[in-house]
Formats: sequence, structure tokens, C-alpha cells
Amino acid sequence: MAARSQPRQASYDAIVIGAGIQGSFAAYHLAQRHRDTLLLEQFVLPHSRGSSHGQSRITRSAYPQAHYARMMPDSFYLWQRLEAEAGTSLYRQTGLVVLGPVGDPELEGCRRSMGPGDTLDTAALARRFPGLRPRAGDVALWDGSGGVLRADRALRAVQDVFRRHGGTLRDGEKVLRIQPGAVLTVTTTAGVYRAPRLIIAAGAWTSAVLAPLGLRLPLQPLRIDVCYWREKEPGSHGAGTATPCFMMLGLPEAPHGIYGLPALEYPGLVKVCYHHGSPVDPEERDRAPPGTPSPNVALLSSFISSHLPGLEPQPAVLETCLYTNTPDGDFILDRHPKHSNIVIGAGFSGMRGHPAPPWHPGHGRVPPQLLLPAGHGFKLAPVVGKLLCELSLGEEPSHSTAPFAIGRFPGVLRAAL
Ligand SMILES: Cc1cc2nc3c(=O)[nH]c(=O)nc-3n(C[C@H](O)[C@H](O)[C@H](O)COP(=O)(O)OP(=O)(O)OC[C@H]3O[C@@H](n4cnc5c(N)ncnc54)[C@H](O)[C@@H]3O)c2cc1C
Repeated sequence: MAARSQPRQASYDAIVIGAGIQGSFAAYHLAQRHRDTLLLEQFVLPHSRGSSHGQSRITRSAYPQAHYARMMPDSFYLWQRLEAEAGTSLYRQTGLVVLGPVGDPELEGCRRSMGPGDTLDTAALARRFPGLRPRAGDVALWDGSGGVLRADRALRAVQDVFRRHGGTLRDGEKVLRIQPGAVLTVTTTAGVYRAPRLIIAAGAWTSAVLAPLGLRLPLQPLRIDVCYWREKEPGSHGAGTATPCFMMLGLPEAPHGIYGLPALEYPGLVKVCYHHGSPVDPEERDRAPPGTPSPNVALLSSFISSHLPGLEPQPAVLETCLYTNTPDGDFILDRHPKHSNIVIGAGFSGMRGHPAPPWHPGHGRVPPQLLLPAGHGFKLAPVVGKLLCELSLGEEPSHSTAPFAIGRFPGVLRAAL
């Protein structure tokens, strides 16, 4: 390892900023195409300060938006390919139940993306998920492809395969400066690196990285409570049962929806979360007064009592994670409007940002989207990484990136700092 007092200097074919799941997959695809790639991460890996940590994420085929539904088969295929390359299992198929009132637009959108015969009647739902008490009149959809991605293991796997293909991963190096140009210069806390192309996938820090490049994207980081609830009867909701993942829509008391995963991480603890949080600066994430009860945890306790009576209604483990939202809930995958060799991937949490953020000049022009209640960037990361790689290499993207264009947010280009 080079001494910290001697800044490293090197040139690469490509540099990627951010070794979360999106940046790591972008770097993986570049390395697989034989591009000498440097992946930079500000924290020492593994870390739990961003959005890609933790043991589990939901994956599914059911999607209300056709553009994501079309990407999912590619994503399932690429996850399988990574499993084979890394020689590890990253996906556990549990099935997914999506519940909501008749006519709920998100539910109907999901139904359209699924095959016929995927609706469960009350008896079938009780067989699939005996621990769940639906509301009277709820419709239940069944997505048999739904399941759990082993998130921490997946992040390690994609980074390992990236390195095996000759990629360089430097953690504990924060990017301080980017000098645009035909050959870009990236200065970190430990070195100066040059490359003809750059991908920025800095999660909740994307605005901070982009501000000096004159781009002010409407990104809103949120701090999310990740709650785990103890089974009253040990083993009733875990790996030995058929308990699926679930999402519940149309709850007046929880308008952003609630989702849950079976007890596969901490023994006997089921993950159930509210798809909402509080706006946060990622640098100030831990400033919430210690012990302050979060209103979202109280909301979840009440939900557990009513709908998952087999769980203790007080959380046994409480962790946090960061969402990064765009005003319409769609990703941003595009080139910098002024520096076309800088590609940006951001906004992977699938929630609409704050209704009228002062920093979003184009808010009134954003069309409403259909959104399911759970972050959704993780499952799509293999395809997101591929699209970022293709944009960066000037290739035709393998899926349309029109829904992810920066141009849908007018007025975001500012004078560079
Ligand atoms: C509670 C929760 C539940 C979720 N559930 C699901 C789910 O069920 N299914 C699903 O598909 N998705 C889910 N998601 C969404 C998914 O996890 C995220 O979309 C995804 O992890 C985002 O990855 P990222 O790489 O963009 O961000 P991150 O993982 O945060 O990575 C960005 C990285 O950039 C680094 N960085 C930032 N600035 C710099 C700098 N200046 N220099 C160097 N490095 C820098 C950061 O340290 C960080 O490691 C969930 C998210 C949360 C928070």
C-alpha cells in the first residue's frame, strides 16, 4: 500500500465515484469490457453509512411502471450471472404478496405487469401467508418471482468480480475535486487520477459531488428507520416457513405504504418498514436526538398489532438507511448536460421527493408516477450499472434511458463553483 504522505498518481480508462451497489455494478461492467477502471469510495469498506448496506432487499417482477418491468428480466439474468461468477447464492425466492384496495392505481399497474391468474383469493392468501391479516376488501396479487437479495453479500460479490477482472478499488479515499476536460482529473484525499470518462454514483452525496460541476439535481436524501420485529412463536415467519415478502398499499394511516421480508437475517426477527423517512443531510445523519421516538416506528407498531399479530409490536432492532429521491420517483441516468464524458446515476429510492422542494424549479411539470412502497434501486443495480457503462462508452443503451433523463428537470444547470 502506498504511504499516505505520497499522493498516488495514475491514469485509467474510466473512474467511478461511489462503491455502493450502483457504482460497483457500473465498474464491474466496465472491467468486463476490458476497461482499466478505478472505483473510488470515501469510506473504508464494508460500511453502513450509505444506502447499500444490510442483509436484504426485495426483488420482484411486479412493477406498475412498464419501463422498470421491461428491465427486470435482464436484471434477474445478470444477478444469476453474478451468482455463477462469484460462486455464491445471492437470491432467495420467497414470492411477494402485494395487497391493496380494489382499484388502487399502483396495484392495477402491477397487475398489468404480471400474468393472468396472479390474484389470490382470501383462502389462497391465508395459505400463502397465514400470519398476515388483510383488511376487508383488499385484493392480493402474487408475484412468484419475488424474493430476497442478500444485499451485503451481493455488494461484496460484485466488487470481488470487478477486481478479478483487473479493476482497482480504492476505499477510504474521498473525492475532493473533479476537473472536467477531455481527460478528467479526479483529486481524492490520497491521490490524483486521470481518465477520459467518469461515472458519478455517489448516492445521497451526489448533490455535493455535482455542485462544483454546476449541476443542481433535485435529489432529496431521507433517513429511513429499518425495523425488525420479534416473532411471538419462534420460527413462525422464517426460512423454514413459506412466509413471502409483502407490500401493503392504500393504508390511510401509512399513505406511503408498508413492506416486509421474512425472518432471514436476525434469527426470529421479521423486517417490516414504512416507506418514508425524514429529510437529512447525509453528513448529519446521526444528529436525530438519541432516544427520540420516531413517529414512523409508532405507526409501524400499530400496523403490526393490526395486521401481523404473530409479531411483538415493539421493534427488537432499529437500524437506519438513506433513500435518495427524485421529485417523480424515477432514477436519473444521464450524461452531465455540459460535460458529456461525465455520466450520473442517482435517485434510486423510488419515492417522490418532498412535494414542493424549494430547490426544484421544475416541480410543476413532473407527471405523477405509480410507485410501490419499497426502495427499488438495489434489484435493478445490475441493469443500472450496465446502462451507466454503456452511456459512458458512448454505446446505444440496452434499455431506453428516456425516462431517466436530466432534461425532465429544467433549470438544473448552474454556473460551476
Ligand atoms: C431502508 C431501505 C430499504 C430498501 N429496500 C429496497 C428493496 O427492498 N429493494 C430494492 O431494490 N432497493 C431497496 N432499497 C434501495 C437500494 O438499497 C438503493 O437504491 C441502493 O442501495 C442505492 O445504491 P447507491 O450505490 O446509489 O448508493 P450508496 O450505497 O449510498 O453508494 C454511494 C457511495 O458513494 C460514496 N461516496 C459519496 N460521496 C463520495 C465521495 N466524494 N468520494 C468517494 N465516495 C463517495 C458513498 O460513501 C457510498 O458508499 C432500499 C433502500 C433503503 C435505504
